[in-house]
Amino acid sequence: PEVISVREFAEKLGVEPTQLLQDLIALGKFVAINQPIDFETAAKLAEKYGKVAKLEGEEELESLEKELEETPDREEDLKPRPPIITVMGHVDHGKTTLLDYIRNTRVAEKEAGGITQHIGASVVEVDTSEGRKTLVFLDTPGHEAFTAMRARGAQVTDIAVLVVAADDGVMPQTIEAINHAKAAGVPIIVAINKIDKPGANPERVKQELTQHGLIPEDWGGDTIMVPVSARTGEGVDELLEMIALQAELMELKANPDKPARGVVLEAKLDKKRGPVATLLVQTGTLKVGDAIVAGLYAGKVRAMFDDKGNSVKEAGPSMPVEVLGLDGVPLAGDKFYVVKDEKTARKIAEKRQELARESALEKEKRVSLEELFSQM
Ligand code: GDP
Ligand code: MG
Repeated sequence: PEVISVREFAEKLGVEPTQLLQDLIALGKFVAINQPIDFETAAKLAEKYGKVAKLEGEEELESLEKELEETPDREEDLKPRPPIITVMGHVDHGKTTLLDYIRNTRVAEKEAGGITQHIGASVVEVDTSEGRKTLVFLDTPGHEAFTAMRARGAQVTDIAVLVVAADDGVMPQTIEAINHAKAAGVPIIVAINKIDKPGANPERVKQELTQHGLIPEDWGGDTIMVPVSARTGEGVDELLEMIALQAELMELKANPDKPARGVVLEAKLDKKRGPVATLLVQTGTLKVGDAIVAGLYAGKVRAMFDDKGNSVKEAGPSMPVEVLGLDGVPLAGDKFYVVKDEKTARKIAEKRQELARESALEKEKRVSLEELFSQM
């Protein structure tokens, strides 16, 4: 990128160069009129004069990304969608065992070469008093999911299941999990686990939880707490029923009839298949052949697989799918969008990469003459 001098910058801002030199001195920068200024400084000065300095390419990216802006849905286009559930809790309290139990009893797993395939989320069917309901469980440990996703401004969880071992009680990560869920405004359902163990004391767990603002329903509060054993399966049906009921109350909806957008749950580079990303569709329907942008990468959906490893052509709201066809490995928590064609997708991804590189090279940041700033 080109470099801009004090003189040129003053001209752009419509300010006398001598004035700008004074401003620079005030910032502790002693530069000559023909010397270049760095982006950081240019941005500060631009702000002083009511302008915004931009990195080269930033405006072009913004105009490309305009098409990614979401148009609000009409009420009549919204359809019910399954809830997305995250399991949280202290280490060793039984999160993985509970998820495995739920998966293994509800899902006929497809084995690939003897190895069970996990895509980072499981879709589970539950028969409740209100009929058959679909629940989507995220496999990512709750804390990581919450922090990684929220760091990128994505929120994917509708309901948090807090696992507390009945023989151990409330522990530091239990409290951390409560705080994460509360900060995200996500309702908590407590699974008091390991009730099969001799030392189990569910009443004590309830008592401890009240000290953190979770009052069980049977004590007049509004937090559902279900005693379970992830080992024997006792109480798990009731837990699932409670989750389904909670979801019903929330009336979760999305518009399935538009290009998909959502979040990257996880992604990796597969030796044979190239970049493989598990995407969670939040709105719209993702289809094979769609052009997508995910974080810094682009591509065309070459193939999609559901959580059981079945090849699928489409994935609607709340559905997790494994997607092949991206040209790189995005980060968990990156947003993905369907765009009109692959060319647009590549252009956006390229611009994003360029900007990412530039901001990484903090010191060498330079502004171009053409795209230095725009009117505020
Ligand atoms: P995580 O760290 O929360 O994922 O916990 P794990 O699922 O790995 O469980 C930790 C240990 O507790 C493992 O040895 C499990 O077999 C055991 N465990 C989990 N749930 C139960 C349960 O309901 N009853 C008993 N007896 N053991 C359990
Ligand atoms: Mg675990």
